Amino acid sequence: MRSMEVAVQAARELGDQTAREGAITDIGLRVARLNEKLARYIPPRDMWTPAEEALFKPIDLFSVPIDEAHAMQLKAIKYTFTHHYNNNAFYRKYCDMRGVTPSDIKTNDDLYKIPLIPDLTFKQYPEGRDFARWLASVHTGELPKVVIKGANPTFDQVLNAFNANGMVVTYSSGTSGRFTFIPRDQRTFLASQYGLAKSVINMWAGDLFETDGYLLLPNPAKTNVFVGKVTSVYFDLVNDVQMAIDRELTTKDIQTAMSGGQGLKGRLFSYVQNRMQEKTIGKIIQWLERHDKAGGKVSLVGAPYLLYFVMQKLQAVGKSFDLGEDSYVLTGGGWKVRENIRLPAKDFRKLVDDVLGIPEASCFDLYGMVEGNGWMVQCPEGHYLHTPYTFYKPFVLNEDLKPADYGETGRFAFLEALAGSYPSFIMTGDQARMLEHCPVCDRPGPVLEPEVHRAKGEELRGCAEEVRGVLKRGLGG
Ligand SMILES: [Zn+2]
Repeated sequence: MRSMEVAVQAARELGDQTAREGAITDIGLRVARLNEKLARYIPPRDMWTPAEEALFKPIDLFSVPIDEAHAMQLKAIKYTFTHHYNNNAFYRKYCDMRGVTPSDIKTNDDLYKIPLIPDLTFKQYPEGRDFARWLASVHTGELPKVVIKGANPTFDQVLNAFNANGMVVTYSSGTSGRFTFIPRDQRTFLASQYGLAKSVINMWAGDLFETDGYLLLPNPAKTNVFVGKVTSVYFDLVNDVQMAIDRELTTKDIQTAMSGGQGLKGRLFSYVQNRMQEKTIGKIIQWLERHDKAGGKVSLVGAPYLLYFVMQKLQAVGKSFDLGEDSYVLTGGGWKVRENIRLPAKDFRKLVDDVLGIPEASCFDLYGMVEGNGWMVQCPEGHYLHTPYTFYKPFVLNEDLKPADYGETGRFAFLEALAGSYPSFIMTGDQARMLEHCPVCDRPGPVLEPEVHRAKGEELRGCAEEVRGVLKRGLGG
């Protein structure tokens, strides 16, 4: 009891009283435990930037009253915009071309003036030694000095050289085989991970810390794929984590996986694929069986694709579990289960309930991307994607690339304040519909409708697609 009081007190001291009336104890306690577990992710309070304040101060990111949140949002994004304007030559030039300076940003509506970078920008890199120079040009401020051996280093050699010296350069890939490379410094990366964990803890009323985890993704220690790396935080939250893909994954592996190998090589791959995938699915089922028998609480995090195949297999052999509402499923990255076949998220949640015995209110989807550090998580009541609007301004662009009204469908864009090492003011290739408030729950901020798609003409990408490719090409195990 005493330690509980101390924990709630700590949450109150760190945060303010933005959590909703009545819910303070539970959510306060959960966030206090989060802050305890992730203490090394949080800079000392007197060093917080306005962006960090907007992330670390509220107990519940999704319940901050609109006026208060708008004040935080303006302060945070203006601060970060000024930082990139002053310290990033490429972005400064871009802003000068548009005739926008930080002094133009006085109100929340002025935030729309901040020049957006098309997501393609982070794909337009050269190879070899020039790649390191390119990274330096998109990075804000000085990159650490590193020694890169050889005249023609691979992407992994360059990434590993920077990442051994305090950076976290990660990437995501698309079906075209081009990568999106994003240079995060440690501070940005830790804030992103903390934000991911807090968004989840804010939404799910269960006790994530007491679960045993299964990561349906690559081992974060063995890859620079963003979705692999960013889930390292999971290991600091739950009891024990098993991993679906535990081998080293290089850019070359991912390229092979995403491009869909053809001919003899492709046939060989698909032979290995079936065996590897079967093995992985078998391992996950054994683990679930063990936990079901022991009455243990579990959390399953990762690509819906893999869990879908696990559940199909269970159905085929007539097995089901009763893991209960204290267990948890978090998916992300897209809903394609086979070429051209999309699994509706609703059907997936029903399957999770039927086969695993985990109710819909404990099954969430999340939307985020390699370029950003804001994580949109579904509410348990209606499964709309809530946005972290204290440090993140989400919006939708119409066909003329002007901000669209709520309720209109268009290209998703965002201004995000946590990224100190690169400008995270991005026009994405995703198609979304945003609503001013959630039609189901009473959290005050804007939401996206579930199931964000790729815009027409944009290549497929996303973490689920990477996992699908990796397992399909027999690179898992
Ligand atoms: Zn909601």
